[in-house]
Amino acid sequence: MANAFDLAIVGGGIHGVGVAQRAAAAGHRVLLLEKSQLAAGTSSRSSKLIHGGLRYLETGQLRLVRESLHERTALLRLAPELVRLQRFYIPVYADTRRRPWVLASGLALYAGLAGFARGAGFGRVPRREWDTLDGLETRGLQHVFWYHDGQTDDAALTRAVMGSARRLGAEAVVPGAFVGAELREDGVIVRYAANGSMQECRARVLVNAAGPWAAHVAREVAPAIEVPKLELVQGTHLLLAAPPPERGIYYVESPRDGRAIFVMPYHGALMIGTTEVRYRGSPDDVAPTAGEQHYLLGVLRRYFPAAAAAASDAGRRRLFAGLRVLPGGPGHVFHRSRETHFVVDRDRRPRVISIYGGKLTAFRATSAQVLQRIAASLPARRAVANVDALPLTPE
Ligand SMILES: Cc1cc2nc3c(=O)[nH]c(=O)nc-3n(C[C@H](O)[C@H](O)[C@H](O)COP(=O)(O)OP(=O)(O)OC[C@H]3O[C@@H](n4cnc5c(N)ncnc54)[C@H](O)[C@@H]3O)c2cc1C
Repeated sequence: MANAFDLAIVGGGIHGVGVAQRAAAAGHRVLLLEKSQLAAGTSSRSSKLIHGGLRYLETGQLRLVRESLHERTALLRLAPELVRLQRFYIPVYADTRRRPWVLASGLALYAGLAGFARGAGFGRVPRREWDTLDGLETRGLQHVFWYHDGQTDDAALTRAVMGSARRLGAEAVVPGAFVGAELREDGVIVRYAANGSMQECRARVLVNAAGPWAAHVAREVAPAIEVPKLELVQGTHLLLAAPPPERGIYYVESPRDGRAIFVMPYHGALMIGTTEVRYRGSPDDVAPTAGEQHYLLGVLRRYFPAAAAAASDAGRRRLFAGLRVLPGGPGHVFHRSRETHFVVDRDRRPRVISIYGGKLTAFRATSAQVLQRIAASLPARRAVANVDALPLTPE
């Protein structure tokens, strides 16, 4: 068959393009299929943070936090036009659940896990500066901590990684919708719809990077492969036509349930998020609910009353919802592992690898793990570039 690739990748989100870039740099023939447009799914609906995830310290996910902080350092170096350090503020009031000593120890651990790299410092904002904090409610305020983390434009980052992959020789069919795959002893036959017709190609490995659609994609592989028990959890953000915070990003606690919420500037607007609501429908239909809007506006009113008043006109709101892919199991989703899960069709020379979950921040580490897991299935090729030295620039 003329159309023969080393890797056929389903999904043009951050994971699909990350694998495409790394595989193309290693000299492999790569085809990426995206059914809609690049970053159409979760990779344009995240909180846009390139961060270790301070709150994951609460659930003891130290390995994940350390890896993500390492990746933050790498992305600040490789993509300075797309990822920048922001100052984060954590206000503590009399009724804040996370007490100052907990936050101070968490921030010290976070700095240590970052290896005291650039942006690892933290401290307290002196009381005399509190009224310069973007209208933050000061009644009952006891302390304000600051530290640094990264912020990006997730869709622009995804497009930049795909641009890099293309320059290294990766092909992308956008729109191109994966329809099904048949396993053969030495690879897989992939069927997809593009340009109004059904097309076929052969690949050594099918990489299922379809995010919340990954289980649907895995179910279209014949003979059937394992599909793990998963849960989709919806997270909504509001973009409000209110003056955005100028000093940085505020990390506040929802008075209703103690969840951590970000209030941040984003492309000239004020953005607030996120929620965590179980989702059982098709990923194509995910949409913010009235309850989520109410919840987020309640948080904004509590901490930034003037901004909330300015944003009271519902006509001047934009909203978007994304889906986290978490392992199924008992208990609240908050306590569920945020580690990325890889599932292969067989241990020796896998023909399919599915990526479940993961973080925008860690896409480089995730793509390295994917390539390592499928190395035995791929032909020997001469590397054409080193992704650790390739700058990522806006497309
Ligand atoms: C609310 C929320 C906030 C988050 N905030 C952060 C954050 O601040 N920082 C961070 O590091 N991480 C964050 N994350 C996690 C991060 O956003 C995701 O892990 C990441 O974007 C997932 O990327 P992906 O490529 O796996 O999936 P997606 O971006 O969803 O990409 C999957 C793609 O597959 C395509 N597709 C589906 N079916 C087919 C098919 N049949 N054929 C072809 N293409 C198909 C879709 O169109 C889609 O573009 C957040 C997640 C959520 C939900």
